[in-house]
Amino acid sequence: MNSQDRYICQHAFENDAGHHGAVTPPVYQTSIFTFPDLETFSRAQMKERQHFIYSRGLNPGVQLVERKLAALERGEACKAFGSGMGAIAATLFSLLRQGDHVLRINQTYGPTVELLDQLGAYGVEHDGISGTADIEAALRPSTRIIYVESPSSLLMELADLEAIAQLARARGIITVIDNTWATPLFQKPLEHGFDLVIHSLSKYIGGHSDVVGGAVIGSAEMIDRLFAIGHQLLGAALAPQNAALVLRGLRTLPLRMSEHQRNALRVVDFLAEQPQVLEVLHPSLAVGSAADWAQKQLDGHSGLLSLHIQQPTYHRIVSFIDALRLFRIGVSWGGYESLVVSPMRPDGSGQPLIRLAIGLEDIDDILADLTRGLTALNH
Ligand SMILES: *Cc1c(COP(=O)(O)O)cnc(C)c1O
Repeated sequence: MNSQDRYICQHAFENDAGHHGAVTPPVYQTSIFTFPDLETFSRAQMKERQHFIYSRGLNPGVQLVERKLAALERGEACKAFGSGMGAIAATLFSLLRQGDHVLRINQTYGPTVELLDQLGAYGVEHDGISGTADIEAALRPSTRIIYVESPSSLLMELADLEAIAQLARARGIITVIDNTWATPLFQKPLEHGFDLVIHSLSKYIGGHSDVVGGAVIGSAEMIDRLFAIGHQLLGAALAPQNAALVLRGLRTLPLRMSEHQRNALRVVDFLAEQPQVLEVLHPSLAVGSAADWAQKQLDGHSGLLSLHIQQPTYHRIVSFIDALRLFRIGVSWGGYESLVVSPMRPDGSGQPLIRLAIGLEDIDDILADLTRGLTALNH
């Protein structure tokens, strides 16, 4: 793990002298900030993204989180949001116009697809391909955004970020990536030429399953625009208390990510050897060109993975999941706790796979629990 990143998570941009040496910055639980004279107020209003005026715009704790995230992604600027979907909605609304097309690469987070479907009412079209498909052939003259998930958060697919960025730049297309799976510690898409990076802070960055938040990182120019249109007008602001929770999460992000990685790699090795398991999906197992992309782009592997069991009926998926005691059934991921879900539904619809979020518990406890699930498949 990069020592510069560790410093950014823990110490960078802190100003304890400004608040009596307090190591934890105070939470500015205020909606408004007042000014000594009208001139100062008016000048602040001309640069709303940089000044504390109203907490729908900016708040000191939120700004600290934004500075750290921008630095971690090696971007010029960051805007934080009240949720990952707030960040995604702001990005799409501020960049898209009637007649535009969005090309999605790899399986896109479900609510993002639903939002793009909604944008159909405003004349925006979208479709999706896999990262291994011929991307150039899927572009249209009206393509305005290429929206990527790599690794994606259910099938763990990869895409060639540098090739996509080059292709897009030559055509004036904006590249956006949802980097939630990898966190800025394990992947820095701006360094591969991407324009905007989105995170759900509700996952590893918050890290304790007690906060919902989002962020977008990019050039100052793009973030200014996103702020003016997507943030100020759609209003999905990160609350001061929630920013404090995200900040606390950032302090230990490097430590937690190494441990998530260590546990996940052990689980991947273990599952790959089990006769009841047909296939494990995790970027550490990528083969062919995907393995080259992983090598080039990923500095580590997070703890989210999926598996296909033999004869994946709904009944068997239920048997596996309901036999687990340590793993809890729930959406999301990124906290200390191991979680399990399946997108498969009782009527047989949905993908017949099991998704595991490997937490920070003792690895022997995790493997013993998975053995319970696998044993249940034998009955
Ligand atoms: C959770 C998630 C989101 C949405 O973030 P919220 O904070 O829940 O709104 C977007 N993308 C991915 C990959 C996610 O896992």
